[in-house]
Amino acid sequence: MRDLSVRFRTYGGHVHALRQINLHIARGETLAIVGESGSGKSVTSQAIMGLLPTSTAQITSGTITFDGRELTTLKPAQWREIQGRRIALIFQDPMTALNPTLTIGEQMTEGVRRHMKYSADQAKARAIQMLELVGISSPQQRLKQFPHEFSGGMRQRIVIAIALMCDPDLLIADEPTTALDVTIQAQILALFRQIQARTGVAIILITHDLGVVAGVADRVTVMYAGQCVETAEVHALFAQPAHPYTRALLASVPRLDMPAASLKAIAGQPPDLFAPPDGCAFAARCRHAMRICHQITPPATALPDDGSVRCWLHDARAPQAARRM
Ligand code: SF4
Ligand code: MG
Repeated sequence: MRDLSVRFRTYGGHVHALRQINLHIARGETLAIVGESGSGKSVTSQAIMGLLPTSTAQITSGTITFDGRELTTLKPAQWREIQGRRIALIFQDPMTALNPTLTIGEQMTEGVRRHMKYSADQAKARAIQMLELVGISSPQQRLKQFPHEFSGGMRQRIVIAIALMCDPDLLIADEPTTALDVTIQAQILALFRQIQARTGVAIILITHDLGVVAGVADRVTVMYAGQCVETAEVHALFAQPAHPYTRALLASVPRLDMPAASLKAIAGQPPDLFAPPDGCAFAARCRHAMRICHQITPPATALPDDGSVRCWLHDARAPQAARRM
């Protein structure tokens, strides 16, 4: 994704949901996209999946290239070759993702029969294989059951199995564990790792919770007010967060070795995306804000290991006195 900007038309004017987003992901890699609600995480995944609402959303700049193919100019028929087949999406709530009136078997086999022209037997064999991959025992019998016969964690495993049926190259998981309790959450995150090791699928994990990315992601992109403010290799991000917003987010993650009272909420509100401010979007909440921060949007500065940050503290052109960390 290069320089991607997306805005939505509303009665109140344009909402500038994404502003010059740059992202990349390699085969077999997990990229976490982290941010508060409204930061643009889900719009980013909708753009990659071709699911932006055509009546209101407009891509005003940039490109999305997938395996050499430009996605922003695809026709609906061309999208259907990619959605679910090359790029698959996993939603937050497994209960709404599954149809309560159809058996697991019917729901699992529908895509491969339609997209890949599998016979009924081939599709069933593939479904059994995928249920085994996500750790569901007696898959043969399970195929005949309905969603309500499974626990929440099992349903999320089934949703993941469905997403894997067509052997996609890219899996986008939008808050996949938010509806689950903590123990099940950890199991599902571990499952993503196992699946990736077995299939080589690339995974984009979208979450508001920086706590869940540590054990799962290779790289992390932090979004704020429709911009990528920092991208870094996961260990570097936790050890040396470069952007003041990333540092504030890390300070708000609960840790076992710290009393709960020391958790710091980030004071203030994200900016109004109807009229994003000039300069840095985080300036109103930033302890380090300088005059330039309120005037000019900070450009992306390269960090070691392919990372980048949008903050004047890291830019050699910012006033000398301002560059202290
Ligand atoms: Fe803070 Fe300025 Fe950096 Fe924005 S550019 S995060 S206001 S120091
Ligand atoms: Mg969302």
